[in-house]
Amino acid sequence: MKSLCVFCGSSAGRESGFIAAARDLGRLMAERDITLVFGGGSIGIMGALADAVLAAKGRAIGVIPQMLWDKEVGHRGLTSMLVVETMHDRKARMAELSDAFAVLPGGLGTLEEFFEIWTWAQLGIHAKPFGVLNVDGFYDPLLNAVDSMAAHGFIRPEHRRMVQVANQPQALLDKLDTYVPAPAIVKWAGTLKA
Ligand code: AMP
Repeated sequence: MKSLCVFCGSSAGRESGFIAAARDLGRLMAERDITLVFGGGSIGIMGALADAVLAAKGRAIGVIPQMLWDKEVGHRGLTSMLVVETMHDRKARMAELSDAFAVLPGGLGTLEEFFEIWTWAQLGIHAKPFGVLNVDGFYDPLLNAVDSMAAHGFIRPEHRRMVQVANQPQALLDKLDTYVPAPAIVKWAGTLKA
């Protein structure tokens, strides 16, 4: 894995553990020579992550739509910053540039990005690894909701299993590095009885 796209909050959240986890991940990425691809903001979890990568002499590439430059306070010290037109351009560019995806605590924007990557994997649009850094169980309620959908027959077990989950940044990077994609399973192969 040479580049990792990280989706995370443009806010910092209330618990200091979220920022601490982002900093740990950033430092580890620099140590492992993994380029960060992210939304390009200097605030919240995003900013803390990028600052940690840069402080450890790593590379950070931001991809930001012009309209968000002010709102998310575009980071001025990145290795490179790509300014794109739309949110769709941003996500497409981030996906192209990345070998894998990780999700840190965040809000609606983070969820949107995460589920797009998961659904693209489900559709076989990509076979790249993706995973969740489940800091202090932050994502347990969301993963429980997904499990419930699977139990109700709306998500195939194979698609549920695609997501890697770890509590520690090191464990998450290890899982993403060793992930072997399962053979693509067509989502609409009849019912979900499997
Ligand atoms: P949030 O988790 O809401 O703090 O947002 C995290 C990141 O997701 C921010 O950089 C947002 O600009 C971005 N974001 C929000 N909505 C979308 C969207 N519809 N598509 C792509 N990125 C988004």
